[in-house]
Amino acid sequence: MTRVFAISNQKGGVGKTTTAINLAAALALEDKSVLLIDLDPQGNASSGVGHPKAEVRRGIADVILGFCDLGDVLLATDIDGLHLAPATRELVGVEVELVDADHREFRLRSAIQQQAGDYDYVILDCPPSLGLLTVNALAAADGVFIPLQAEYYAMEGLGELLRAIKQIRRGGLNRKLERSGILLTMVDRRTRLARDVCDQARAVFGGEVFDAEIPRNVRLGEAPSFGKPIHAYDPLCRGAIAYSNLALEVIQRIEHADEEVPDVPAERRPTLRVIGGGAA
Ligand code: ADP
Ligand code: MG
Repeated sequence: MTRVFAISNQKGGVGKTTTAINLAAALALEDKSVLLIDLDPQGNASSGVGHPKAEVRRGIADVILGFCDLGDVLLATDIDGLHLAPATRELVGVEVELVDADHREFRLRSAIQQQAGDYDYVILDCPPSLGLLTVNALAAADGVFIPLQAEYYAMEGLGELLRAIKQIRRGGLNRKLERSGILLTMVDRRTRLARDVCDQARAVFGGEVFDAEIPRNVRLGEAPSFGKPIHAYDPLCRGAIAYSNLALEVIQRIEHADEEVPDVPAERRPTLRVIGGGAA
């Protein structure tokens, strides 16, 4: 069964792309087949897995505009089991071209459905807006992951995003869309502020907040300039381990929820696997 998740927050710089890349990589390292779709015209998810938009001929824009199928644009990455549908320069014009198009909100959903079955997980890296590309992502997704940066304005604008999700559901664009988890990113536990933001998020959103927190970690900031997910750049750093823990939590929450299996205590979770077959 294919599960589609949008990583969305209309604020820029909150860790959407870092999460999309490294959660996708961590899921692939757990033997899942994963497709990462780059919906941000900046193309950072594409360059972050080794395919800068300037070097890519066809991408997700061509699929959304109906020039080719999703299968025609897929690229392999350094991580086995992780494929990319890249952004190209054309993506920047797609929202304008779609304005008068038929089924403009459902272009991505149709494309993914045609390719369904090939992947366990499809991860959508959304742009920092609530425009038509994000609407396409939310119409195509089973759930939304919301990264929250553990800083002063973390919650600002969150209401807008939650309302947009509700509207997508109620308006009938996607009745099954769920809020699948809030992820605290760039957490620096040494600061009182970060600890307060985390506590506040957990007080307001309870179990919706993932147990896994992503620390502020220099290696996570460096990896994209080498075109590598963190697990290929520095598999033992704190950032890599945090994203692996997140992947395990996602698998446990999502897949095991269906089977109604009781929670696996953290100490009995599978040992993290890293590239090269070692253990972290
Ligand atoms: P968004 O996609 O929401 O705009 P990004 O994932 O691109 O956010 O992150 C914004 C910037 O912060 C990038 O330069 C990224 O490398 C850096 N960054 C993201 N997460 C972390 C982290 N946990 N630790 C350190 N730097 C991070
Ligand atoms: Mg981004």
